[in-house]
Amino acid sequence: MKDSLGRNITYLRLSVTELCNLRCRYCMPAEGVEKRRHEDMLTEEETALAVKAAAGLGIEKVRLTGGEPLVKRNILSLAERVASVPGIREVCLTTNGILLPALAKPLRAAGVKRVNISLDTLDPEKYAHITRIGDLAAALRGLEAALDAGFERVKVNTVLIGGFNDDEIPALADLSRRYPVDVRFIELMPMGGPFEKTAFLPGDAVLDKLPALEKTSGDGSVARLYELPGAQGQVGIISPLSCQFCDRCDRIRLTADGRIKPCLHRPAEYSIKGLDEEGMRRQFEAAILAKPPWHGELAWDAPSQAGRPMHRIGG
Ligand code: SAM
Repeated sequence: MKDSLGRNITYLRLSVTELCNLRCRYCMPAEGVEKRRHEDMLTEEETALAVKAAAGLGIEKVRLTGGEPLVKRNILSLAERVASVPGIREVCLTTNGILLPALAKPLRAAGVKRVNISLDTLDPEKYAHITRIGDLAAALRGLEAALDAGFERVKVNTVLIGGFNDDEIPALADLSRRYPVDVRFIELMPMGGPFEKTAFLPGDAVLDKLPALEKTSGDGSVARLYELPGAQGQVGIISPLSCQFCDRCDRIRLTADGRIKPCLHRPAEYSIKGLDEEGMRRQFEAAILAKPPWHGELAWDAPSQAGRPMHRIGG
């Protein structure tokens, strides 16, 4: 379905839980997630129905996200149900990777085609710091498990944080030489968290640190794509702050408590909780037609107007 600006909306980012086994400083408060009532969250049945309603309007691609999607107990049956909805051509997953050693192969068998793994540093102490509780070795075992499981594509997502990981840009990009993975650097979005102005690096910092990068063609969707000589994968730069791509936005989001968000950085939400398929379809339609032309000003001193922290939206 096209929105009011003619953008074709084909991509649903589906948050399956607000819970997470990490506490990343840019995403979540230290104390973790406020306890939600079970009955306020979408059931598996409702989630599958919502995907069916969205597919009826032209959604073809679904990304399972969260919170951490792999802490959801029924993630395999959910993935399988989403993948079997007529019209859904691709199911992918964004994860911190920690639980992939046990789940990568079953997820692949359930129909998940591609996996993105979030990894902001290759230094164990810095990993423990940024995630507050994480173990880098476990995340790296997850990356290996993903590579072993036969996904069509594995990507590493790195949030660029000035003064934290800008010195690691070459080492992180080098993962695309060591493994058949794409590495994507994403500008830190101001969605809470204790960050100084200097933490908000423009995506072009990657180009400054890596003069050997060569521009490549190909469909990076929201990413600008490059390659290191001899690499097995690409390097992407995603710049929601310094170089907006709202005119190419093809996505909507559904939160774990059943709210459609037409735009990540706007507060508008359309509830589908408790509705039948036709009611859900109407809400998706209304949300798509209400997609704003852009996400609004985003900068260190112009925080996101999302109205929720990232872990409660689905990144
Ligand atoms: N737990 C999963 C994970 O770690 O990938 C999925 C959810 S997480 C919210 C999805 C992505 O959002 C991660 O790559 C994370 O780094 C990114 N993210 C969260 N908060 C962000 C922020 N303020 N700016 C940029 N990216 C952010």
